[in-house]
Amino acid sequence: MSEIMKRILVTGGAGFLGSHLCDRLVKAGHDVICLDNFFTSQKSNVVHLLQAPNFELVRHDVTHPIWLEVDEIYNLACPASPVHYQYNPIKTMKVSVMGAINMLGLAKRCGAKIFQASTSEVYGDPDVHPQPESYRGSVNPIGVRSCYDEGKRAAETLFFDYYRSNNVNIRVVRIFNTYGPRMHPYDGRVVSNFILQALKGEDITIYGDGAQTRSFCYVDDLINGFLKLMNGPDDFVGPVNIGNPGEFTIKQLAEMVIKKTNSNSKLIHMPLPADDPTQRKPDITLAKKHLDWEPQVKLEEGLGKTIEYFASLDLSKYRKPTDHTAHKNTIADQGN
Ligand code: NAD
Ligand code: UDP
Repeated sequence: MSEIMKRILVTGGAGFLGSHLCDRLVKAGHDVICLDNFFTSQKSNVVHLLQAPNFELVRHDVTHPIWLEVDEIYNLACPASPVHYQYNPIKTMKVSVMGAINMLGLAKRCGAKIFQASTSEVYGDPDVHPQPESYRGSVNPIGVRSCYDEGKRAAETLFFDYYRSNNVNIRVVRIFNTYGPRMHPYDGRVVSNFILQALKGEDITIYGDGAQTRSFCYVDDLINGFLKLMNGPDDFVGPVNIGNPGEFTIKQLAEMVIKKTNSNSKLIHMPLPADDPTQRKPDITLAKKHLDWEPQVKLEEGLGKTIEYFASLDLSKYRKPTDHTAHKNTIADQGN
């Protein structure tokens, strides 16, 4: 153990990113409290940690206050995939805003450092490309993605107001599309959908013409960025983009997945969900300069590890968190 042992709370700790973060913190010898209500995850993501004396699992909803004594908080609790966060949009806004207020209050009382998992969605459907942190975004305040986008924007506001008004020691990271083992197989995100479809030989569902772009970061790279920001100097609090600048069209991703799985699946087109951003790519100049961070894992390599993971899953052990699909929220359905 090289660092000083800290008591660390990870909200959303049983989720995709949270479980990888808990792994790293437990391994470093910290006393870790993983808090989750299991809306979009399950205990299987952290079951291997339950034997560790420095790991504790708490079932709790962040929209309600909680009384704990901790040195650091990573606030990750929030449904993250469009089908999950659009299922109950009012709850999504509550999780972002009330969750942030509750965790910032806890940080203030304990004098804890607190980290917020924000998102590239704060840039909306961007008209500046790639997106630097100084870009203020182009977000629809009343659309089907707004519960998440505006919720995360409001959370950032709260973090910076607690920082300015109450001297709370904050860190804010804007995460771009991240993938890897332990993504929920039914989260409806593009990487998990395409891999499962390819492995089963089903049609690959491209929404719209597939020319929209995303930049995909492998989970290990992302968690390295989280730790560098949290453990870095107090005069660099973010917001900072953490993502992989390698930009791909959704059609290119589909073709890569088919090739890597040796699948016979065919590409089919389905309606584009409303407000689906046309392009997304992080400008990571700030992360390079202040954190000496940049991603190491290329999409091709990370996809290989993710395919291996999905191929090994027993899907009968996974419950679909919601029956919501992207096609309940297409442009035609919204009349806009
Ligand atoms: P995830 O759905 O796997 O994890 C979210 C976790 O939060 C789940 O375990 C879920 O059960 C939990 N949760 C949801 N509502 C809760 C509540 N009210 N109380 C307690 N726990 C609750 O998603 P993820 O990809 O691991 O995302 C983690 C964080 O990172 C989220 O805040 C998300 O917005 C952010 N983020 C992720 C990505 C990405 O590409 N993965 C991109 C941008 C931002
Ligand atoms: N997408 C797709 N087919 C799918 C799932 C998603 O074409 O089966 C598209 C979606 O319309 C979007 C991109 O892939 O343009 C990324 O979607 P995802 O839900 O992973 O995350 P987003 O970046 O939109 O939040």
